[in-house]
Amino acid sequence: MTRSPDLWFDPTKCLIGGKWVAPSSGEQLPLRNPSTGERIGSIARGTADDIDAAVAAADAAWKGEWSRTTAVERGRFLFRLRELVQERIEDLARIEAIDVGKPLKQARADAVALARYLEFYGGAADKLTGETIPYLDGYTVYTLREPHGVTGHIVPWNYPMQIIGRSVGAALATGNACILKPAEDACLTALAFADLAREAGLPDGVLNVVPGLGSEAGASLSAHPGVRHVSFTGSVATGVQVQMAAARNVVPVTLELGGKSPQLVFDDADLDAALPFLVNAGIQNAGQTCSASSRILVHRSIQDRVIERMASRYASLQVGPALADLDVGPLISAKQQGIVSSFLDRGADLEKVAEGVLREAPEQGNYIKPTLFAGVKPDHTLARDEIFGPVQVIIPFDDEDEAVAIANGTDYGLVASVWSRDGARQMRLAKKIRSGQVFINNYGAGGGVELPFGGMGKSGHGREKGFEALYGFTTLKTVAAFHG
Ligand code: NAD
Repeated sequence: MTRSPDLWFDPTKCLIGGKWVAPSSGEQLPLRNPSTGERIGSIARGTADDIDAAVAAADAAWKGEWSRTTAVERGRFLFRLRELVQERIEDLARIEAIDVGKPLKQARADAVALARYLEFYGGAADKLTGETIPYLDGYTVYTLREPHGVTGHIVPWNYPMQIIGRSVGAALATGNACILKPAEDACLTALAFADLAREAGLPDGVLNVVPGLGSEAGASLSAHPGVRHVSFTGSVATGVQVQMAAARNVVPVTLELGGKSPQLVFDDADLDAALPFLVNAGIQNAGQTCSASSRILVHRSIQDRVIERMASRYASLQVGPALADLDVGPLISAKQQGIVSSFLDRGADLEKVAEGVLREAPEQGNYIKPTLFAGVKPDHTLARDEIFGPVQVIIPFDDEDEAVAIANGTDYGLVASVWSRDGARQMRLAKKIRSGQVFINNYGAGGGVELPFGGMGKSGHGREKGFEALYGFTTLKTVAAFHG
């Protein structure tokens, strides 16, 4: 696939200062298809030298032409880029399906979301304003929102296009120059995106892409003194390292680190409405979603009904290659398959109520059957730790206070939902649940790009998506003029 018809760019190169260049290491990393396990090409192994070059290019771009663009011009650029992404939706979806193992329909939804992020941030670029502050007689005081300068974006493999859209889109809208470090397991759509940005007329050096290992390119980017803001999405352990590295340069960091997100199903819930969300939120993208709902908290009086209905949906779930476009694709890597398998082994003491079926899944692909466990105690490892695979646990509760205690009983706090017809309960729980997003009688609200997103606790800090992201990618300057 190094030069298959799907790719109109060379995946063995980095994009630095507007030029496709070979990595300074001269080395490549293997590119694998998760659906088959086959090696299908190579990608660049960028290292510290490439990050140095990318930071220098971004710094020059930021201080040069890019700093003189107006907000409306940046917005128009994002609209042009959106048009190019829109024209390439099918290409991008196919590339992502092959690279990440997503069923085509999910990969297509990610490409559509990328276009929508560009539209949203293109429209928002010239709507971001400071404020005037009433002050002492003889003063005029106002605030300016300014870009950080060079921003680093470390992206995981589970939703490359969506995460690039929400972080790079907002950073460009606010006038930053970006260095994107995609995951070693999934960097093709990052390269495709960067090439389309060039085609859309982005000045050289404003967007640089350095693929490579996290321990090399990623670590260099987060520790680089020329980087003024780091946006990281991935595991807690790596997020801690990124934050510590950035702290040495006293640089702000946005961390989005996953979760153990619950759905609370009360005895007055509309089960017909809830059921598709209960299951889909756990198995979408083979459960490799930071906001996956891996815990279903159910009032004990309706537990049997919920188990029966979820189990019947699970038994119908088909698992197979991304291009077969079934319900669930493979996991990203053999490593991730190993992590999820070991969680399933640790669930051997639990009641397994259902699993999905493999369909024409090649032996060497990274497949895991979606698995549903019931009657799980809140302190079980499968009920506390992020699995990042298509595994859900059903946990019974007896009353509202217990439901809240269980919901808040993990280290995480990213997303939660409440299924109940009781309006007062909906409002009470929206306040009591410790989570960056709370949904009432839905889960995820269709993933709207307008909705600020981010975690509490070990799910991270800072907000991306929505207008809120524009504040994160800018810094505030107060100007106080004395004129008498
Ligand atoms: P990871 O956190 O190690 O990788 C995410 C990104 O960080 C990748 O681009 C990687 O190259 C980079 N990275 C790795 N080490 C780095 C370092 N020292 N400095 C800077 N960047 C570095 O995640 P992983 O190893 O691919 O997956 C492990 C677990 O992480 C998964 O099982 C899952 O639980 C979790 N995860 C969460 C998300 C999420 O969206 N929250 C995404 C991917 C993985």
